[in-house]
Amino acid sequence: MLHFTCDSCGESITENRFVVRLEVYPAHQPTGLSEEDLQPDHLQALAEELSSETNIGNDFEPPRTRSFRYDLCPRCHARYVQDPLRVAATKRLNFSEN
Ligand SMILES: [Zn+2]
Repeated sequence: MLHFTCDSCGESITENRFVVRLEVYPAHQPTGLSEEDLQPDHLQALAEELSSETNIGNDFEPPRTRSFRYDLCPRCHARYVQDPLRVAATKRLNFSEN
């Protein structure tokens, strides 16, 4: 029998288990290719353009898609759906520190 623990509180989940799946990806893919760019004589120019771009700035990091998956117990699920990004919780924390 599979055994699950809550990824939030660490308790073992005996009955209802909830799964959170998150996918984070850039909203705009920096392709911008047109029909004209795909013509053979443009491809060489485009390749040169791209290779010169990669030489600009070593700290350039390509946008990446990341996926996350979490198991939650019923109690943590109830809390999670009310504030998935913990915006309200962070605001409360900042307020209490002042
Ligand atoms: Zn939990």
